[in-house]
Amino acid sequence: MTTSTSSDLDVIIVGGGPAGLCAAMYAGRGMLKAVLLERGITGGELLNTEKIEDYPGFLTILGPELAEAMTKHAVHFGADIRQEEVEGIHRNPDGTFRVTTSSGTEYTAPTVILTAGGTPTKLGVPGEIEYAGRGVSYCAVCDGAFFKGERIAVIGGGDAAVEEADYLTRYASKVYIIHRREEFRASRVVQERAFANPKIEVIWNTKVLEMAGDVQGLKHLELEDTATGSRSQLPVTGAFVFIGFKPNSGLVKEHLAHDAGGYIVTDDRMMTSVPGLFAAGDLRVQLTRQVTTAVGDATTAAIAVEKYLTERKTQRA
Ligand SMILES: Cc1cc2nc3c(=O)[nH]c(=O)nc-3n(C[C@H](O)[C@H](O)[C@H](O)COP(=O)(O)OP(=O)(O)OC[C@H]3O[C@@H](n4cnc5c(N)ncnc54)[C@H](O)[C@@H]3O)c2cc1C
Repeated sequence: MTTSTSSDLDVIIVGGGPAGLCAAMYAGRGMLKAVLLERGITGGELLNTEKIEDYPGFLTILGPELAEAMTKHAVHFGADIRQEEVEGIHRNPDGTFRVTTSSGTEYTAPTVILTAGGTPTKLGVPGEIEYAGRGVSYCAVCDGAFFKGERIAVIGGGDAAVEEADYLTRYASKVYIIHRREEFRASRVVQERAFANPKIEVIWNTKVLEMAGDVQGLKHLELEDTATGSRSQLPVTGAFVFIGFKPNSGLVKEHLAHDAGGYIVTDDRMMTSVPGLFAAGDLRVQLTRQVTTAVGDATTAAIAVEKYLTERKTQRA
C-alpha cells in the first residue's frame, strides 16, 4: 500500500468529466492544492457524444473536442490529473477523507468533490453500440433536435421514458413508445399527457431484439411481441433508450443522503450529508443532467470547498 506523498492536499476530485475538470480548473485558480483522479481518459460522457449544440459559446462542437479543451484549461491552471480508479472514499475520525484506489495509492484531504457521473442502462441488443450517436441515444434534451420531422422510438415504460417521449414530439413527426409490458410504471399524470399526444403511439408487450441500419445510421428496429412471439420491423431513424441510469455514488463508504435512484442529495453549496464531501454533476439529485449543469455544480462546489476550508481552519485555530 502506497500513501500519497500529497498529504497536504486541500481537495481530492473524483472523476474527470465536465464536472471534475471544471472543479479542477476553479481549484487551481483558487490556489487550492488539488488532485483529480480519473480512471480513464478525461472527458467523461463527452467522449461518447458526437455533436454538442447546447454549450454556450459554441454553435456546435464535437464532444471529444470539448473534452480536450476542458482538460487543457484545467491543466493550464495547474490541475494535477492522475489516472487512478477510485475504489472507496472513507471518512477519518478527524473529519478528513481517505480515498483508496486500485493501484494501492491512498490520498488524504479535508475535502472531496465527487464527480463520478453515472451510466445509462443499455438494452444490450445487437446494433445498440454500433449505432450509438448515429440514431441511438440516451438523452432527449441532448439529441432530440437532430430528429426534426423524423419517426423515432422511445424504449422504456417509466417516468423518464414517457416524459421524454412527450418532449421528443416537439421535434419528431412520430414517436413510438416500445414497452415490454401492458402498462407503464410512469406516474398517472405523465401517462395521461402522453396518451393525449396525437404524435405518440404505444407499442405494448414488445421488446427490441436488434437495432439495424447502414452507413448513414439507424434504419429500423427488429421487434418481438412478448405475448405471441411474432416478429416485425419498425422503420425509425432514432431510438432513445430510457430504461434506467445508475449514478456512481456507491464509492462513498459512509451513509450518504440519496434518493430512491441512488442520486446524491446536496445542499445549495453542493455539500452532501457528510460534511466536507461535495458532489457535482450527473450523480446529484437534480432536474436535468447536462454539461452546463455539471460545470455549474462544479463551480459552486469548488468555491464552497474554499469557504469550508477557511471555516474549518478558523474553528481549529
Ligand atoms: C450519449 C450522450 C449524449 C449527450 N449529449 C449531450 C449534449 O449534447 N449536451 C449536453 O449538455 N449534455 C449531453 N449529455 C450529458 C452530459 O454528457 C453529462 O451531463 C455530463 O457529461 C455530466 O458530467 P459529469 O462530469 O457529471 O459526469 P461524466 O461525464 O459521466 O464523468 C464522470 C467521470 O468520472 C469517471 N469515474 C467514474 N467512476 C470513477 C472511479 N471509480 N474512479 C475514477 N474515475 C471515475 C468516469 O470515467 C468519467 O470520466 C450527453 C450524455 C450522453 C450519454
